Amino acid sequence: MISWSHVLPSRGLMRTEKAWCPECLQVALDNEEPIYEQLVWTLKIVSICTIHRIKLSTHCPYCSKKMSVLSRNGKPGSCSTCERWLGEKGWTPRIDDNSEDIKKTILILQMMIPNSNTMYRREQISESLKFYVEQLFGGNIKKAAEYFKVANATFRDWYKGRTIPPLNSLVSICLRLDISVVNFFNKVPVLELNNILDAVSSPTKTDVRQKYDHVYIKSYINKYIQQESITSPKSLRSIATSIGCDRRLLYIKYPTESKKIVDIYAKYLKREKTKREENVDIEMKVAIEKLVNSDTYPSRRKVETLLGGRYLIRERKVALKWKSIK
Ligand SMILES: [Zn+2]
Ligand SMILES: [Zn+2]
Repeated sequence: MISWSHVLPSRGLMRTEKAWCPECLQVALDNEEPIYEQLVWTLKIVSICTIHRIKLSTHCPYCSKKMSVLSRNGKPGSCSTCERWLGEKGWTPRIDDNSEDIKKTILILQMMIPNSNTMYRREQISESLKFYVEQLFGGNIKKAAEYFKVANATFRDWYKGRTIPPLNSLVSICLRLDISVVNFFNKVPVLELNNILDAVSSPTKTDVRQKYDHVYIKSYINKYIQQESITSPKSLRSIATSIGCDRRLLYIKYPTESKKIVDIYAKYLKREKTKREENVDIEMKVAIEKLVNSDTYPSRRKVETLLGGRYLIRERKVALKWKSIK
């Protein structure tokens, strides 16, 4: 990462507490490879392992303690409190390949490919932004900021080179441009993206500062119902917040649409609940089996710990599952 040392603000860059992929550790152990903690795990922005498509762990599965990146009793791959092995394999749900997290992490991993002593300059960010704003937005900074989903003033500061974006924002911009961070720094032209114009011409929060512009509100909620509600359902309250009005205003002025929004969200919550109930069944079985195989009584606390705190046996349905499987 030395190549990037001038262009990444250090604030918020690294984790203070350790994160790890339990499967990477286990694979290294099984293959008798050196056990080490990966550089990519120390970055705050990285929360998943792209090889195993699972979330990085941050708590010891045995004693549930967090640990600092460096500690006196630290030993790679082991908990610094209870000293138990942190590697394990294969029962955490896999993350979808198309998730934004995976794409972002891949961009970061590309940044870590050693790059023949190149030292990127701080000014290059502003130079590259100017290049792409010119190429794709005809020099219109405001439109570019909207497309990148960054506050106008913040984007302007980056553009002028007064400040530099944090790693997270830099990666988001590259993701929106569909190029690698290295290519961004090298000002490699991007193809005119079809969705740029769509994204910019559609109304966004910043378009309408005036309170209760009903043309805007109407188009916002209709757009939500037709498109966004399918992939990411929201509560009426959160939609009202995005618009910048009160939930009651939507109820009164747009009763039909409001009802639709509420229904969609209720159905979504129900689906999620069922999904969770199905998962608890599978995960609980695996956890109990694991304990029994290692001659350990599947106590409430042990099972809860193995389930990573996602399901608590204090929940009635979860308790019933626990009892019946046990
Ligand atoms: Zn891994
Ligand atoms: Zn521990």
